[in-house]
Order: sequence, then structure tokens, then C-alpha cells
Amino acid sequence: MSDCPVPKSGVMKIAPYVPGKSQAPVAFETIKLSSNESPLGASPKAIAALEGLGKKLASYPDASSSGLRNALAQVHGLKAGRLIVGAGSDEILHLLAHAYLGAGDEAIISQYGFLMYPIVTLGAGATPVVASDRDYVVDVDAMLGAVTRATKMVFLANPNNPTGTYLNGDELKRLHQGLPKNVLLVVDCAYAEYVTAMDYSVGVDLVEAHENVVMVRTFSKMGLAALRIGWMYGPEKIVDALNRLRDPFNINMAAQLAGEAAVRDIKFTRELNIHNAKWRRWLSAELNGNAIRVLPSQGNFILVLFAQEQGMSARQANEILLNQGIVVREMGAYGLPDALRISIGSGAAMEKVAAILKDQHIK
Ligand SMILES: *Cc1c(COP(=O)(O)O)cnc(C)c1O
Repeated sequence: MSDCPVPKSGVMKIAPYVPGKSQAPVAFETIKLSSNESPLGASPKAIAALEGLGKKLASYPDASSSGLRNALAQVHGLKAGRLIVGAGSDEILHLLAHAYLGAGDEAIISQYGFLMYPIVTLGAGATPVVASDRDYVVDVDAMLGAVTRATKMVFLANPNNPTGTYLNGDELKRLHQGLPKNVLLVVDCAYAEYVTAMDYSVGVDLVEAHENVVMVRTFSKMGLAALRIGWMYGPEKIVDALNRLRDPFNINMAAQLAGEAAVRDIKFTRELNIHNAKWRRWLSAELNGNAIRVLPSQGNFILVLFAQEQGMSARQANEILLNQGIVVREMGAYGLPDALRISIGSGAAMEKVAAILKDQHIK
């Protein structure tokens, strides 16, 4: 017998998630480009929706988040009964893993897939199985090739964080078609609001036609990261299972009020997409060159690969940026020590990043 409580074996295999740094070690103002937050702050309508919240603090929030779900259903053309809201999409991912994964089960994750997937998989006692990317793009054949009789779930971030690359609608369909019916395909579209590619699909048609596909979304990248709101569109049976498992009051009142207003603020969402597309294109073109490779991104960030032998390393570039008050994300935890992930921020921030890195590179 152990002399103290011992967690389930998967728990201690989890490498703790390392969030993006908030602060540079300098006296002047920090520019945070490390967590893919909104480049334009929050929707003004979401901010206004929080007025008067103080008077409501003694009441429990709506346990079914009905105002927020109805707004999502209307704006995105979805059925409200197939929507579930979570405290960030991280909670949705945990709920999916707890409901559908256990000891002996496997979940397939792409080589540079989002780091929460192995965390929730291990937390549920199951085993993450990694499928190789092809030049930093999810390889559908490798994902399908990793399927065994133990496979219960496949995680796909589309576009993917941190690579920024995506699978088009046909490739997404091909991935789904190749999976056994008992394997749940989790399509995580955290960056859908920023996509500009015409052949992209969030997969709503797949969710509506099949029992084994869910689409997961978040408000965190569109201006409400502080409030922790994520959501999922899925088959009724899966939504029902998660509703049984979740905390009845998982979405606090502030999140419900601001979230509903943010969904309905279509103009702000469009402004985010336009601002991001402009500066994503600009910064990518500025930095892409012999010693620096910028992967084509559909998110609100770019992944910058440094060819160490030809110029500076990612570590050096990170230090130079930090000394100028700019915080970006180091990628060692993703197995990408030669890369930095840079969130798209204000135009002024993007110009500063480009000027610093280009200046260093010439020397
Ligand atoms: C940021 C991110 C999320 C999670 O966001 P929450 O803040 O928990 O809603 C989920 N998936 C991917 C791929 C992300 O990059």
C-alpha cells in the first residue's frame, strides 16, 4: 500500500502545459504576441454587455447557456440542441476525453498538433499516438495509417496550432471517410474566424450527416480569452453524453452575457479577419527569405522556422525580441526548437517585429 494518495498512472505522464509568457524582462511596455489573442481587443458590444453585471452576482447563471447557444445557432445557422458550451474549448476537450477514452484506448494526434490533446488523452488514462506531418501539414494518410482496433478518437486542429497550416474540405472529408464508425473525429476549429482560404470547411456538413464527428470552437482567439468560452457542435448522442458529465454551471454569467453579444457582433468578427489577413500576409512576406521560412498560415499567428546554420537561431531571435519588449512563443514543447510562433497583433507591433528580425539577419 502506498503511504500517500497516488493519481491514476496517465496523470503523471502529462507534461504540464506551458502558457505563453506575458511579460518581457524590460522596463518599457511589453507587446504580447505569445498566446494568439485577438489583435483588436474585445468586441465593444461584448464589453457593453457586462454593464450592470454587479447587480446580478448573487444569482446562478443559466445552466444551459440558452441565450449564448441560441445566438450561436442563429449566427452560424446551426441547431441549438446540438450545441454545448464549455469553460474554454479546453473543457470541451477534457469532457470528450473523459466520456470516450479510457485505459487501453488510443487517440491519434498529428505530429505538431495542439498540446492539449495529449494532456486530455493521458488524463483519461488513454494513450496518445502521433502521426507524422508532411512538411508541417497534417498527413491524412499517416493519420489513417495510425488507426488500430484500440483507436477511439482522432484530434485534428484545423487550421493547426502552432503550424498554421490547414486541410481543405476535401481532405477533411477523406480523413473522416477513412475512419471506422466507432472512432470519434474531433475537428478543432479554434482559428476558423481567421481563415481566408476558399476551400476551407469547418465540417458542419460532416457533423450533421454522421454520428462520429464534432466541431469544437472557441471565443479565446476572437477577443474573449479572459472569460473562457468554448463550444461544440455535435451529434445529439455526444452532446447528451457531455451534458451529463459537465458541471451544471460551467459557464459563468459574465461569459454568457459577453459571449452572446460577441457572437452577434458580426461586424467586429469581420474586422478581426480583415486586420489579421492584412498583417499576416505582410509579416509573412517581410520575414520569408533564405534564412527564415514562414509557413503559410490560416490562423492569427505565423510559425517562423530559423535555418540556424545560415543566420540566427530561434533562441537568439527570441532573446533579441524579448530585449525589445516583444514576447513571442518558443516552440521547444512542440518539438520545434528552431521555430518561433508569432501572433498577429497591431500594425505597429508587426512593423516592429519585422524591423528587429530583418535588421539582425542582415548583420
Ligand atoms: C487556443 C486553442 C484552443 C483553446 O482554447 P480555449 O481558450 O480553451 O477555448 C483550442 N484549440 C486550439 C488549436 C487552440 O489553439
